[in-house]
Amino acid sequence: MTSIVAPIFVRSADAVLPQIAEAVKQGADMIELRCDEANHETIEAILTRPEARCTPIIVTVRAKAEGGLFSGNETDRLDLILHACRLKPDYVDVEFDTWRENPDFPAQAVPLLAKDATDPSGRPKLILSTHDFLSRPADLQQRLTAMAEIPSACLIKAAYHAKNLIDALEAFGLYEELPQTIRKPLVIIAMGEAGLITRILAAKYNAAFTFAVPAGSATTAPGQPTITELIRTYRFRSQVRNSPVYGVIGWPVSHSISPMIHNAGFQSAGCPGVYVPLPIEPEYEAFFSAVTALRGLRDFNLRGASVTIPHKAHAARYLENAGGVLDETSARIGVINTLYFPSDGTVGGTNSDWYGAIEAMRAATGWNLTDLAFKRVAVLGAGGAARAMVAGLASLGATVVVYNRTLKRAQELAYEFNGKIGHVSAALLNEFAGTNCSVIINCTPAGMFPNVKTIPVDDMTAINSSTVVFDTVYNPRRTRFLDLSARQGAQTIEGLEMLVRQAVIQFEGFTGKTAPLGVMRVAAEAALARE
Ligand code: NAP
Repeated sequence: MTSIVAPIFVRSADAVLPQIAEAVKQGADMIELRCDEANHETIEAILTRPEARCTPIIVTVRAKAEGGLFSGNETDRLDLILHACRLKPDYVDVEFDTWRENPDFPAQAVPLLAKDATDPSGRPKLILSTHDFLSRPADLQQRLTAMAEIPSACLIKAAYHAKNLIDALEAFGLYEELPQTIRKPLVIIAMGEAGLITRILAAKYNAAFTFAVPAGSATTAPGQPTITELIRTYRFRSQVRNSPVYGVIGWPVSHSISPMIHNAGFQSAGCPGVYVPLPIEPEYEAFFSAVTALRGLRDFNLRGASVTIPHKAHAARYLENAGGVLDETSARIGVINTLYFPSDGTVGGTNSDWYGAIEAMRAATGWNLTDLAFKRVAVLGAGGAARAMVAGLASLGATVVVYNRTLKRAQELAYEFNGKIGHVSAALLNEFAGTNCSVIINCTPAGMFPNVKTIPVDDMTAINSSTVVFDTVYNPRRTRFLDLSARQGAQTIEGLEMLVRQAVIQFEGFTGKTAPLGVMRVAAEAALARE
């Protein structure tokens, strides 16, 4: 079983004991006491207290050169580590370079350490670790192998900064290869936003442990999740080696609430798997390399991905190059937000945005698809969201007017569809006051956090009790545009409904099971409320 280790910076014994209790309460299986700023007495005061020994303890004293805070000289630091060893914590973590560069230290430490992982003496087991806070070391595999050859090392750990997802995936490659030669428990962590996936999927790869902080505590390394995120959002306890993985591909992607929505759905529907953030740099080459690397890992088992800005066009290009076939509307839109990777090695994909929007409208109004064919719809904006909306509505036979600040862009969008699959015209946004459309869809970011006072139009007199107003902006849930429209008597539809319903379409494509819409909506609401 992969343990969750909660790192705690030690400042005083009295402060640490409640922190240990809280971390254990939140789900930590082990505590790492970061004793960089502690002295002999403080360490002793903690390790001799039964309350501190309710869970396995790792003691670490890191020098500044190792990314720590210890400010004294090296002799004093090594003396502090030896002192901690005599107090018999469960583990001590020592940097490989410290072990190699101070020959007297191993000579003094070995008699105080467990001989191996099965030693029953109660002496601490040695975690030998290597850190690189700048980049992925080119010789990572050799370093890990050399560390494993130290007889006293019971557990081998490497942590390095991942500049991108490809750097992070190296950790999984090593987890797949090294156990054939190294027969010691391993922990390989990529630090930074791109490395989060190595912390989340540690249990899938049977790592000895992963680090996570209690909610509200300071992290000890970049990219650490909270214990609750790991257990609740990322289904840490149910991960196994062949767990399918899904994710959201974007740049940036850390703000995405899709992991909360999909993982809640998997949990509720009893589907195996975990949905993770997949940050991939903006260019197509980066997209192609990262997706190829993800699919190339033997055990990763990537089964599907949501795709967001700026990769929706890249996803369509990737699909085409891989010989995948798009449905008619997605092909017309030209960009997709969903990729499927079935086990037969093929690639599929679709654009679930437009259908999620239509489903949100149908659910709110009770219309069927034929009813939509008789509507006049004003689409505000002419960007990516508007394009998906126009393609979907036009393919259903609705009459669409695209209102945009930049008339040329609206005209180009209208020209692409008008007469080919429906009736689409273009107008300047400031002509909206004269509209005779009964359905208004805001596809501009106006009103989106932090610009919550903005509305997309400057005259709302055309909106009345026979109008349906749909705002695709979902943060905040109730935009000012929706509130003002409701005040004029219009029926209003929130963007959150579209977000959840496009996720439902993806979920059903990923798993082949009916999506738990209500659970996914509650998860989306909760995630937005936390922002
Ligand atoms: P985009 O490609 O950047 O297009 C933005 C469009 O909005 C452009 O036509 C732009 O006009 C117009 N615009 C920008 N700021 C404006 C303002 N202050 N007032 C009036 N018009 C403005 O963006 P997108 O990808 O289409 O996304 C637009 C919005 O759709 C997002 O902000 C998001 O809230 C929403 N969305 C929601 C969902 C969902 O699931 N609910 C899914 C996708 C998108 P110009 O052409 O003149 O620059």
